[in-house]
Amino acid sequence: MDKPVQQSSTGEWDRVWVNANLATMVAAHDGVSGYGEIKDAALAVRGDRIAWMGSSAEALARARSQDVAVTDCGGAWLLPGLIDCHTHLVYGGSRVEEFEKRLCGVSYEEIARAGGGIQSTVNATRAATPESLLESATVRALRLMDEGVTTLEIKSGYGLELSVERRLLEVARELGRRLPLSVRTTYLGLHALPKEAAADRAGFVKQVSGPWLEALAASGLIDAVDAFCENIAFSVAETEQFLHAAQRLGVPAHVHAGQLSDMGAAELAARFGALSADHLEYLSAPGAAALAGAGTVAVLLPGAYYMLRQTTPPPVPFLRQAGVALALATDCNPGTSPCTSLLLALNMGCTLFGLTPHEALAGVTRHAARALGLQTDIGTLEVGKRADFALYRIDRPAELCYALGANPCASVVYGGVAR
Ligand SMILES: [Zn+2]
Repeated sequence: MDKPVQQSSTGEWDRVWVNANLATMVAAHDGVSGYGEIKDAALAVRGDRIAWMGSSAEALARARSQDVAVTDCGGAWLLPGLIDCHTHLVYGGSRVEEFEKRLCGVSYEEIARAGGGIQSTVNATRAATPESLLESATVRALRLMDEGVTTLEIKSGYGLELSVERRLLEVARELGRRLPLSVRTTYLGLHALPKEAAADRAGFVKQVSGPWLEALAASGLIDAVDAFCENIAFSVAETEQFLHAAQRLGVPAHVHAGQLSDMGAAELAARFGALSADHLEYLSAPGAAALAGAGTVAVLLPGAYYMLRQTTPPPVPFLRQAGVALALATDCNPGTSPCTSLLLALNMGCTLFGLTPHEALAGVTRHAARALGLQTDIGTLEVGKRADFALYRIDRPAELCYALGANPCASVVYGGVAR
């Protein structure tokens, strides 16, 4: 499949992909469909950038005269490399035993008493070596990459102590060095209160927002921060303290907001100009308006909604009406979303949340790029952008949202190089 039909040396282009249908995912405007489609098209790369897009016939003529390598896509659809903009990919252990027990009738209380829940992942993560963390995260990353993912956000948050948080971020960065994958790292400082800090919440928040954040930022290990603002996690005031500290250091923010209740976390995220507010099952119309006003992306996470068997979906009509950019992600984590398929998240976004296939696909390309602050570099097929793209054997783009459990990804190009 996609075998080179002609090899060559130099030229203005390094390689050109012909006989493709492009879904550029460039924002819709008059006369152009929602996917930014260009049929019977070609795309040329120079270095790690998209150098040209146009008709296959023109590309072939030019490739012949310039002696450029040509790949025949055989009518495949070519989309921007997918972006999973919210994951907790690096962790130790698994929660499969807990999942099994629960379905066999063991109560949450008994599981918690036996040391289950998030604390069990924290214990397993603290006990894991960097090598084993890297190994298990690599397996999960490769599954995502097989579907066409070329950029991945990874949060810390299962260490809850400085040395382990640092280890998680270092493993995430190492993953990006070893794999043909761009990794963005987020310090999820306020995820859960560790049991050793149960008697001193304020002291923990102060430590997370002060010396720990400063040390990690100084190491150059973080692209952003995140906090779980929720009645079972951290209050608006505690989250605000952390976001203030990040703002002083010039580190952008994400916020886990409105997953289980509306505490005004979306408004808080907007006040700090956060890159994204994530989950948002519980969000008011004014909350949606605040996100729109701040240009904060709403990242919807249908995997967790599904696993928790929630029944109140995010208010997509409010978000649409307010003009908030919608992204979709796997939220890959051992407790509430053991999901390593962004294509499955596309289907769930459509089926459970009522997104149109176009909205869902924009949510893992253009808008996911914006949720990471990378919209000028990735997320659409445009000349000058990074040559990250994936080829799919499908008849139309919506098929990526429609098929359950299928993976029609035929090949992936990362920075102009087929991997
Ligand atoms: Zn999350």
